Amino acid sequence: MESLARRSILNLNKYVQGTTFEQVKKQYNLDNITKLSSNENPHGPSERAFKAIEEHSKNVSVYPDGSYQDLKERLSKLNNLDVNNIVLGNGSDELIKLLLAAFLNPGEKVITADITFSVYKHACTMMDGEIVKVPLKNFTHDLNGILDAITPNTKMIFICNPNNPTGTIVTHEQVQSFLDKLPSEVIVVFDEAYCEYVSSPNFPNTLEFIRQGYPVVSLRTFSKLYGLAGLRVGYGFAPKEVVDIIEKVRVPFNVNLIGYKAALASLDDTFHTKFSIKENNNGKVYLKNELEKLGLEVEPTEANFLLINVKGDDLKVTEELIKRGVIVRSGSHLGIKGYIRVTIGRREDNERLVEALSKINFQF
Ligand SMILES: *Cc1c(COP(=O)(O)O)cnc(C)c1O
Repeated sequence: MESLARRSILNLNKYVQGTTFEQVKKQYNLDNITKLSSNENPHGPSERAFKAIEEHSKNVSVYPDGSYQDLKERLSKLNNLDVNNIVLGNGSDELIKLLLAAFLNPGEKVITADITFSVYKHACTMMDGEIVKVPLKNFTHDLNGILDAITPNTKMIFICNPNNPTGTIVTHEQVQSFLDKLPSEVIVVFDEAYCEYVSSPNFPNTLEFIRQGYPVVSLRTFSKLYGLAGLRVGYGFAPKEVVDIIEKVRVPFNVNLIGYKAALASLDDTFHTKFSIKENNNGKVYLKNELEKLGLEVEPTEANFLLINVKGDDLKVTEELIKRGVIVRSGSHLGIKGYIRVTIGRREDNERLVEALSKINFQF
């Protein structure tokens, strides 16, 4: 049957998800598990989202408003961009796919960092594009290296900011200078899934670049800070012309009714988002201190996850942590051997991680 598949599919691998609760529960016979592997909000969504989910559960026999007007208007007001600059997706993962489906011709090139979110490459390959990887510099996107890699065949550049899995950012000033040197006819997509967690004052204001007419797309999501990963709602800001082209390739009701209503409700709860950000900052400091006491090196992060240098076999460390009921992501699966990526959890999650790591003998 393989020969029947579209040729570009032959080069694809299925997405390998981090270990799930159920797998660990079964395999190690544990009932209390701390999942720090997918950067979800450990505090869950807003109570208002729960209420909206309950309230609208009785309406699920009816299609949602396929123009998603209410949510677009809320996002428009909050971000000071026109509703015509907004597109919604079944998670921002879908928006990445839609961007490539809408813009990439076979053989055209997409530039990404060498260590970054895996979905860009997957979506590019599926559309018969060619991925060009520019190595990170000090774990950070090398914007000059990316400029050097551009050819007449380059259509799109993905910059994951903060970068998953390294947690680093490029700054507003760097992006300004980068955009000013960019040849025309290249679209730059900033994947800002973790932007709400950033504390650096130098984080780029990508919406300002869009207002000024740069060919910039800014992708956001309700999966991380807003705690709605299971409902799959992402959104993007872009020039109106870009939005119009994406609208041509999306399926009619790509965002489900419950996700849509929950997203709308969760935008109102700034108490919950502020709380989540504050707890994340506290957890970041706590983990850095405690992990350094154990002799581990922790990379600085602007996101809700940390990259930890375990100075050894990260797969083994990941396995040892799972045995103790803590799920993390091994660097080997993210293209960065010798490290693990851990989501910053609630206080009790972080304590459990530290406790588990303290029990592991790192002399593998
Ligand atoms: C989690 C994540 C997303 C979000 O994906 P959704 O499809 O919105 O859940 C996007 N980009 C990066 C880099 C992420 O880590």
